[in-house]
Amino acid sequence: MQIVSGDITRDITGEIVYLKAYKQMVGEVTGYSTEKGTATVKLCDTGLEITVSLDDIESTGSTQPHRAFNSEVHILGTRYSICIIDEDDYRYDREADGWCDPSVKEILIFNYKQSAESVKDLIAYQKKVLRHEIVHAFLYESGLWQNAYGSKCWAENEEMIDWMAIQIPKIQRAYKEAYCDE
Ligand SMILES: [Zn+2]
Repeated sequence: MQIVSGDITRDITGEIVYLKAYKQMVGEVTGYSTEKGTATVKLCDTGLEITVSLDDIESTGSTQPHRAFNSEVHILGTRYSICIIDEDDYRYDREADGWCDPSVKEILIFNYKQSAESVKDLIAYQKKVLRHEIVHAFLYESGLWQNAYGSKCWAENEEMIDWMAIQIPKIQRAYKEAYCDE
């Protein structure tokens, strides 16, 4: 979708755009003026704000999450806080997309910023991560955690967790379809 100066029929604030001349430069539109034909773009990797011509940018069609989650979830009767972790939080650099800390009943979801390498829909991606962490929490609250050593830590096996996170909604729909969900 091309943004053409003077031909903007929608509000482009918040859109993720890239610079046509430097395609690795991806940023979020924080403001624009159709009169001046310029947009202010906050670059995703540095946070630097630059002013560019509307003719020089193009929309990526990507989404940037804006922390729309419920702040809590109940796991087998135990309340967990869902914390959206931004880059200024000391836990942000953990090599994971999310984190389940059963010691304090917290699920951390890292609030990724768009970049040239990002998946387009970070909101959908965050929801996937959240489902994944919820399954970790269910396993923990079921008493399945690191004592699964005997079978190579199957309760912390990432592939198994992903399988459950992806399959459970489908299983749930199948249960409903077959009227056996309760
Ligand atoms: Zn995991």
